Amino acid sequence: MSVLVVGVDSMSRFNMIRSMNRTRHFLLNRMGAIEFTNYGKVGDNTFPNVFAMVTGTTPEKVGWSHKKNMDRQGFRFLWEDFADEGFRTLLDEEDPHGNIFSNFKKGFVDQPTHYYSNTVETAKKDSKLFSHHRSCFKGVATDLILMNHVKEFCRLFRHNPYFAILWLSRNTHDELNGGSRVDGYHEKFLSELLKEQLLNNTLLVFMSDHGMRYGHFRKTPMGKFEEMRPLLFLVFPEWFIQAYPHLIDSVQNNAARMTTPLDLHFTLRDVLFLNNVDNYTKRPVGEHGISFFKKIPENRTCVDAGIPLPYCVCLTERPLLLHSPIALKAGIALVKALNTALTEANVTDVCRTLKLSGLVKIMKLEGGGMYLKSFCNGQNVNQNWFKLYRVTVVVKPNEALLEGYLVKCGNSMDFQLRGDVSRLNLYGKTSHCVYNPLLKKICYCREQI
Ligand SMILES: [Zn+2]
Repeated sequence: MSVLVVGVDSMSRFNMIRSMNRTRHFLLNRMGAIEFTNYGKVGDNTFPNVFAMVTGTTPEKVGWSHKKNMDRQGFRFLWEDFADEGFRTLLDEEDPHGNIFSNFKKGFVDQPTHYYSNTVETAKKDSKLFSHHRSCFKGVATDLILMNHVKEFCRLFRHNPYFAILWLSRNTHDELNGGSRVDGYHEKFLSELLKEQLLNNTLLVFMSDHGMRYGHFRKTPMGKFEEMRPLLFLVFPEWFIQAYPHLIDSVQNNAARMTTPLDLHFTLRDVLFLNNVDNYTKRPVGEHGISFFKKIPENRTCVDAGIPLPYCVCLTERPLLLHSPIALKAGIALVKALNTALTEANVTDVCRTLKLSGLVKIMKLEGGGMYLKSFCNGQNVNQNWFKLYRVTVVVKPNEALLEGYLVKCGNSMDFQLRGDVSRLNLYGKTSHCVYNPLLKKICYCREQI
């Protein structure tokens, strides 16, 4: 069975209901899609989440480095496994500068898939015929150009197995309502694939990586929730549904359970090795990922699923007063930890020291006991002494709006920063002098361009 992944960047399930309802309606009512209602993310932005889907692990675990080329680091991508089994592979991405594997990263030395859009996309973007404002090339939306390319690919290989990823980001990445511009394109694209019977032997994965990560909406409680809940739909071909009813049952049961891109990875591996028992048994065992064809436990926790604290929706929270002593202490601790990160990365010669400009919000979180062991260095502290806060601050000189998670273990009076820091407003070009993803969010370059 072939696999076609269509990714719409930064689209939460709820935002799809608002802005891409025609596509959602088509998937559910015309294609019989299975909708995942509790699908989460395992990292902040596009890269760690797509990486989890295509490798089955996280960049941290395999020691990924932004300084080295993507294909020279020793980990394998799913498209390599598919290619080894005789599948044609394709990776089409819309934005060559904001793309998954090259954005502030080294990218690939060798072409990763048989069909790869990066070179053409770069040439298009540098061309006078490209309109950045409307994301058009020669008057045609860039989404449509790539959709047509993928459609041609599906036509060409309708009788051969393939593994294809189409990732579209320009219209939806920075604008909450951007999906409404592309809703009709997606509906038409899917309806044409269906009409031409191009999906008769293809698993369609319609997905996103996360919700909106910054902007006004992200500052609201719903925006925070939606950031952690990207959309995911699976459409299986009719013959597969008939041949494997027990597997489809399992996918349907898992659709409301807590799931992640790591689970999606193992599902796609199972699709690859479905009829090849030898290779099926050889597959690596993931620490967290569970294939949708297996039973995902109802009581799965964020830690079981491999979801880091900042992206776990299972915690309850209550606001603390901004003028309480603990709020100020926490705010100062967050800024101190960020300055330590700049010092440890040896970039204080190019980045200015940050100063607390204002406290925006402090939330006390309950129910994070599952993280106790990893956060308190294995200390067997009393759960009641384990305190968890989410703090949002504005810092000078970049007016960066930053959100971090602070932990207090046992009797310690010190706050420690744990997990990713989120940047809730755009850094634009102010951090051009650094490349590391965390540093990009916090650094204000001494020299501004
Ligand atoms: Zn993304």
